[in-house]
Amino acid sequence: MTFSIHGLPVARGIAIGRAVLVASSRVDVAHYFIEPNRVASEIDRVRDGRNAVADEIVRLQQDMPKDAPAELTALLDVHLMLLEDETLISGVKHWITDRLYNAEWALTTQLEIIARQFDEMEDEYLRERKADLEQVVERILRYMRGVASPVAPPPTSRRGGSHARQQDLLLDDTVDVPLVLIAHDLSPADMLQFKQSVFAGFVTDVGGKTSHTAIVARSLDIPAVVGARNASQLVRQDDWIIIDGDAGVLIVDPSAIILAEYGFKQRQGELERERLTRLRHTPAMTIDGQKVELLANIEMPEDAAGAVKAGAVGVGLFRSEFLFMGRQERQLPDEEEQYQAYRRAVEGMQGLPVTIRTVDVGADKPLDRSAKEDAHLNPALGLRAIRWSLADPAMFLTQLRAILRAAVHGPVGLLIPMLAHGSEIRQTLSLLDFARAELDNRGVAHGPVKLGAMIEIPAAALTVKFFLRHFDFLSIGTNDLIQYTLAIDRADESVAHLYDPLHPAVLRLVADTIAECVAQGKGVSVCGEMAGDVSLTRLLLGLGLRSFSMHPTQILAVKQEVLRADAGRLAPWAQRVLMADEPALAMAEPVPPAPALPGGGAGRDSGPAPLGPR
Ligand code: PEP
Ligand code: MG
Repeated sequence: MTFSIHGLPVARGIAIGRAVLVASSRVDVAHYFIEPNRVASEIDRVRDGRNAVADEIVRLQQDMPKDAPAELTALLDVHLMLLEDETLISGVKHWITDRLYNAEWALTTQLEIIARQFDEMEDEYLRERKADLEQVVERILRYMRGVASPVAPPPTSRRGGSHARQQDLLLDDTVDVPLVLIAHDLSPADMLQFKQSVFAGFVTDVGGKTSHTAIVARSLDIPAVVGARNASQLVRQDDWIIIDGDAGVLIVDPSAIILAEYGFKQRQGELERERLTRLRHTPAMTIDGQKVELLANIEMPEDAAGAVKAGAVGVGLFRSEFLFMGRQERQLPDEEEQYQAYRRAVEGMQGLPVTIRTVDVGADKPLDRSAKEDAHLNPALGLRAIRWSLADPAMFLTQLRAILRAAVHGPVGLLIPMLAHGSEIRQTLSLLDFARAELDNRGVAHGPVKLGAMIEIPAAALTVKFFLRHFDFLSIGTNDLIQYTLAIDRADESVAHLYDPLHPAVLRLVADTIAECVAQGKGVSVCGEMAGDVSLTRLLLGLGLRSFSMHPTQILAVKQEVLRADAGRLAPWAQRVLMADEPALAMAEPVPPAPALPGGGAGRDSGPAPLGPR
């Protein structure tokens, strides 16, 4: 039966495919497709794992002292019984043979299915056996991790599944079916792992639109919905799913008519994207000749290639913390590893500037998943970003040295997150001097960096003049600025309706920051999600912003808005919006459109202005 679940739209577009349910604790198993000739050996890997764990349990039983508690012996019996249960192995065989999942993926998929059956059992004792099942599967996985896979696991992408196959989808049960991932929660590090993955879309039960998980999902450029409440409970493994990333809706078990409708929408979206690619080499300039800088936000050095391809004129935000996350035993990357990573990003941008932000972990970006459990009461207000860096000067100096060294290879900006206090600025600047001196003492080359501060705490936005005495440029982190101005946890879907970029207080802080930088001739950009939101491009242009940093995938759509805009006309309109009690309503006020331009370049002639001045 068809039903829909509503969440928050995160990444645009339509995905249609079968559901893969994963529990976040197990997400870090690899997900890739195997070649058909590896089916037997993948099944053997699971079988070997199962046998090894069973042997281990039998040995434990044999070595058990005579006076061991009876519960312990019974528990081992249960584990053995679960291991020998044929539903586990026959299910795994199905996923490997029919879907070509790798062994670990097949095992966790089957675990989810059996775990659900346990959940539905009436008998409490039997229901509780789910935990035992999870334990034995985790033991098998651990065994398998110790025994290297005979196949290299380059994740295979099978994102296709658009127009040509829509009609066949309900019948199509071959290995070539697109897959969509459904999880209760995914950490940003989990999400990053899916960068090259097999999934055509994502849905999570929790999360806000600008949670870091959502941000990474957006950078993957595949449809995603977060905050879909109990999607992971309502959807079954292998259900057919439509993800409408524009509306933030998930349709489960769609009828043929609904499938056809969404297949059409999907095609329209693809055509629109293709049309936009024509703007790639067009300089971003408004109708009245104002140059606009469109920069990329990246998470990994390898993203630089995509940024160049999308027509970015530099990287406005390299979120370096992703190099630090999901590592074994919290082993942070050393100077050399970081230097090589920053250097790859700088070289990847081929002479275009790269702004590297120092590590911003904490809040909804834990270093590893287990860190969630020992999180502080109010992590967004706790030891996060620059606070975390200043609490560990040796770690911070390592990062500063690595960035300074990378600056030898191209233009680099050094951006500091979450500053609020003069003392933090002073400490940061003296550590930077110290890092330079250390490199000089070692005789290691380093390059010049432009120094920037993120304005993402209201206290910083209210003291911009002071910041400008110390920094070459400012970057407005609207994601956090909104969170901290409105006291709305950006990762909490239950208050997502109150997370409002157009709140007059937020606009006031953004506008004043831009105005002060413009007045002083200092660089200012917006690198929060507002920069990539096409519905806000004209407002930001009207407030004087000329530098936007966003996911590469959003650049062309924003460029289209810029090309259609008349900055001179937008300025008075933006001031009216800024002064309004309800800026969202003021933005919709009709204003006489700009006169048509002779010739009209790409994107300038696509019909009447919708609302507000162009
Ligand atoms: C922001 O807060 O707007 C920002 C760009 O930083 P992050 O999203 O990584 O917190
Ligand atoms: Mg931030």
